[in-house]
Amino acid sequence: MNKIQMVDLKGQYTKIQDQIDEKILEVVKSTAYINGPEVHAFQKELEEYLDVKHVIPCANGTDALQIGMMGLGLKPGDEVITADFTFAATVEVIALLGLTPVLVDVEKDSFNIDIDAIKNAITPKTKAIVPVHLYGQCANMDAVLEIAKEHNLFVIEDTAQAIGADYTFKDGSKKKAGTIGEIGTTSFFPSKNLGCYGDGGAIFTNDDDLAHIIRGMVNHGMYKRYYHDVVGVNSRLDSIQAAILRIKLPLLDSYCKARKKAADTYSEAFVSNKNIVTPVISDFTSHVFHQYTLQILNGKRNELHQHLLDNNIPNAIYYPVPLHSQKAYVDERYNEADFKNTNELIDTVISLPMHTELDEEQLTFITKTINDFVN
Ligand SMILES: *Cc1c(COP(=O)(O)O)cnc(C)c1O
Repeated sequence: MNKIQMVDLKGQYTKIQDQIDEKILEVVKSTAYINGPEVHAFQKELEEYLDVKHVIPCANGTDALQIGMMGLGLKPGDEVITADFTFAATVEVIALLGLTPVLVDVEKDSFNIDIDAIKNAITPKTKAIVPVHLYGQCANMDAVLEIAKEHNLFVIEDTAQAIGADYTFKDGSKKKAGTIGEIGTTSFFPSKNLGCYGDGGAIFTNDDDLAHIIRGMVNHGMYKRYYHDVVGVNSRLDSIQAAILRIKLPLLDSYCKARKKAADTYSEAFVSNKNIVTPVISDFTSHVFHQYTLQILNGKRNELHQHLLDNNIPNAIYYPVPLHSQKAYVDERYNEADFKNTNELIDTVISLPMHTELDEEQLTFITKTINDFVN
């Protein structure tokens, strides 16, 4: 059996190695390293794939969130509601901009932001909601948009884990994750579903004016060369990364399919195990399985984590500490009783190896090892 990896970047690269190597060399020889034609072409191709008017490439997914919030003109003191159970980047940029993060609980089954918790957190200072499409499936965007409309709030979708996922609205129409709110953001970090070979990110919007503002902001607030109209940042996707992403974008749907196939195999194997909850997919979204995350109900999650490591099965706890309990983000306004689901999930979740290269033999070994231990 091939060695099991949490994410198999090498295996994926090997299949497209000739194309990638040739293209990287081509960019090197072109010397158009920053904002070259590859970046522009990738932007256009991603706009087409997502069916969104504007893609603004930037340096990483964290910058994408920060610049998105700057573009919306959010000001110190504005409250921004986001999920308590996610990667820290989402709350980090809110705090960095001097905005007030308001963390709320998630749903226990989907792991995504809880709609009632959003409603309860709204104050006259609330200016935006940042739903995170966690692990690869969309949050309940019909409900988020409804709240946003009622209270006149911006919606920024953190799509770092869900690029390629489809959302189906109540009326049956569909949109790609990240193209639903005023702004969507994503990350091309190597292990993400559409990963480059370094750092990368992008901002999406259908709003022409907002796109214009943000395009200047990623480039030192310049709209005309050496004229700085607003305070910006330096956040660019480099040409080599864009060239790699142009090769991988046409493969994204097949990558998502391979992940889904592995996820289905996992879930079938655990279906009759009473102590394991397999991922629950909400009916309004597809799931692109950035992570495949179980809930272990017999109180032995930590033992399972170690047992799998002892059997050379990599696995991870995403996330071991709720954001509201992280030293950087503790706040006396928070009440533990309001974080019932997050507080439970941090003790029960475990993420299994998930990537495009998992084979039957590996999946069988992983599921058998888990079922033998958790019973
Ligand atoms: C990875 C990730 C980010 C940050 O992306 P970077 O490119 O690493 O800055 C933000 N939000 C979520 C949910 C992520 O998973």
